[in-house]
Amino acid sequence: MDRLNVRIRGEGIAAYCCAWLLTRAGHGVELDRTDRPRVPAIMLSDLALSLIRDVFSRPDLFADLPRITQRVVAWGPAGEATALPHSAVVVSEELLLDSLRPGLTLAEGSADNQPPDFTVFASRPLPAEAHEHRFGTRLASAVEVRLRNDADVSTCWIESFDGGWLFLIPRAGAGTWLLAVGSTPERLLESSRVIGPRVELLTHRSGEFAACPRIISPLGGTDWLACGTAAMAFDPVCGDGTAHAVREAILAAAAIRAAAADRANAEAIVAHYSARLTAGFMRHLQLCREFYRSGGTGPWWTQELEALETGLAWCESAALRHGKFRYRLDGFDLVAL
Ligand SMILES: Cc1cc2nc3c(=O)[nH]c(=O)nc-3n(C[C@H](O)[C@H](O)[C@H](O)COP(=O)(O)OP(=O)(O)OC[C@H]3O[C@@H](n4cnc5c(N)ncnc54)[C@H](O)[C@@H]3O)c2cc1C
Repeated sequence: MDRLNVRIRGEGIAAYCCAWLLTRAGHGVELDRTDRPRVPAIMLSDLALSLIRDVFSRPDLFADLPRITQRVVAWGPAGEATALPHSAVVVSEELLLDSLRPGLTLAEGSADNQPPDFTVFASRPLPAEAHEHRFGTRLASAVEVRLRNDADVSTCWIESFDGGWLFLIPRAGAGTWLLAVGSTPERLLESSRVIGPRVELLTHRSGEFAACPRIISPLGGTDWLACGTAAMAFDPVCGDGTAHAVREAILAAAAIRAAAADRANAEAIVAHYSARLTAGFMRHLQLCREFYRSGGTGPWWTQELEALETGLAWCESAALRHGKFRYRLDGFDLVAL
């Protein structure tokens, strides 16, 4: 296997996972840091947490954090609230990255000014040939709130309305954040029967950001791959954006290592990476379709649902172009079928 010099653009969980896995495999990694606002509260499902623990060989990571043990869902025009068991922890993105950074040994800039053999785009700007496809128009914002009842700190809440939905993510000992999709937190809280009575809005808030599913095409080329939110962005309704980003990073690192060992098949390996990501994106759109079919009856839901259908048709035609899978992931390795 040739030792590659890999440049990774970005400084989120996808960039960190890729950097860690490639460094561990003996490749040279240079991380191009990005300066952007950090996400204030990320709920890590047990699945996301176990993926991160596996990648970084940190079985105890966040074991001592308070847990979210219940999810209350009031979804759809009837607005009935249903309580379900849940298992997750909530961290700020800053805490997540700070906890993983000490394990990374990275070059700060290329010592010899050599162009990299391979680039992972885990952040924008993307290569000029990559175009974004966006399936929906919904925007979101996050605002800090105070819980009126401390007993609510181990429950997350999701509630839908005619013009959007709210997701309340409590974080014991730190701020609780309310994610508002489709409209402002103030406007959605006006008609909220489940979340509204439980919270008081504080002033600290994010700007608006896109909350509709997006994917770029192509997802890679002869010497680059896109990974994480830069490659595919998920509707926060899935609650698992971080797990998606980690899975993409595992596959990206495995694909780069496989391509380094088998240069003659590098193109097929990048095609496999693109096919796998597109299939994952399609599953996400199918999941979103279930949520957006049942969330409400107004024009906002109809319009976002139509965009999801367009996305599904786009994925189907992309899947036809990709053909059959020729590789599979075995642990952290990509092996030919
Ligand atoms: C408000 C909010 C709440 C979220 N809650 C959850 C959650 O509860 N559980 C979960 O699994 N995932 C959640 N996510 C998604 C999660 O943050 C991403 O899936 C994950 O961090 C992707 O990692 P990455 O390395 O691809 O990130 P990057 O591409 O480096 O970006 C990390 C996050 O920051 C956002 N971002 C990037 N640039 C900017 C910018 N300039 N301004 C504002 N935001 C930017 C991205 O959309 C992404 O969500 C949330 C995202 C946001 C924005």
